[in-house]
Amino acid sequence: MSQLLDGKAVAATIRSEVAEQVADLVRDGGRPPGLAAVLVGEDPASKVYVGSKGRACEEVGMVSRTVQLPAELSQEALLATVDELNQDPEIDGILVQLPLPDHLESRVVLDRIDPEKDVDGFHPVNVGRLWLGEPGFLSATPAGVIQLLHRAGVEMSGRHAVIVGRSNIVGKPMAALLLRENCTVTVCHSRTADLPAVCRQADILIAAVGRAAMIGPDHVKPGTVVVDVGMNRVFDEAEMRRIFPDNEQKQGVWERRGSVLVGDVDYDRVAAIASAITPVPGGVGPLTVAMLLVNTLQAGLRRQGRS
Ligand code: NDP
Repeated sequence: MSQLLDGKAVAATIRSEVAEQVADLVRDGGRPPGLAAVLVGEDPASKVYVGSKGRACEEVGMVSRTVQLPAELSQEALLATVDELNQDPEIDGILVQLPLPDHLESRVVLDRIDPEKDVDGFHPVNVGRLWLGEPGFLSATPAGVIQLLHRAGVEMSGRHAVIVGRSNIVGKPMAALLLRENCTVTVCHSRTADLPAVCRQADILIAAVGRAAMIGPDHVKPGTVVVDVGMNRVFDEAEMRRIFPDNEQKQGVWERRGSVLVGDVDYDRVAAIASAITPVPGGVGPLTVAMLLVNTLQAGLRRQGRS
């Protein structure tokens, strides 16, 4: 049976480390770091994400501000809000919750954030710093994966990491971070020929695709460390039963809630052959919020000349 890579537990440890550092900062006469989340429109999932990030901030003693804006807001008005937050001395980190409504250009908006307050690590300056190996803000989800692997004692140097997915927020920064760890890195995508064969070469397999349970046992050689970034909500009962035919716990969740959260990995079948694996939920997800707190703390310390 594989080792469970418990992201929830690692995230709790990171959050308590951040809380201690915030308390030290305040004790030394510093200002608690502040995070502003910009939320445009009423998308329920985005509201949940912003709410949980805000609560996480407050729990570690940081200041959280949510800027709620109407969906029909113009691009100029949104950019003006970002400009104000860039100038605000009490705000150290700014995040603009994606996706934005269709009439707004997210790239233009993200590029407007001061790189020194870009705690999501999406600004081209921070993306460039990441690839150059210079200090900067790291995209939270891939940085969380690295923390999880480190803290679980997974050896990375010299091992072959295969990433499925090449998005700007997960796949590409994941590749840069694994290179920093001295992995040999392969990045796969929708045009990769014979994906299972490429994945079977992995010592460490990272799935960041957005397709429920698509990575199955034919993608995994015995002993691989499997990290599942995917978060897919499955509503259809037949699909849920196909993915979890013998899993009473998942079936129970579906019966109570009418849906179940499924990763990109076919967990039950892959866990039988992997050496270690992240669950969904409770794997990579909690680390994303924890690493956002780490980045906000770092921004607050730097902007107060304390790092
Ligand atoms: P994107 O949709 O931006 O990217 C998906 C990637 O998967 C693309 O590179 C795409 O290839 C590739 N892909 C799609 N279909 C296939 C296929 N059949 N075979 C091989 N590759 C394929 O997704 P994100 O990177 O934003 O997110 C990926 C998943 O991770 C989602 O489930 C998302 O919800 C989850 N996520 C979880 C987070 C967390 O905190 N745990 C944070 C962020 C994301 P191509 O480029 O060729 O189109």
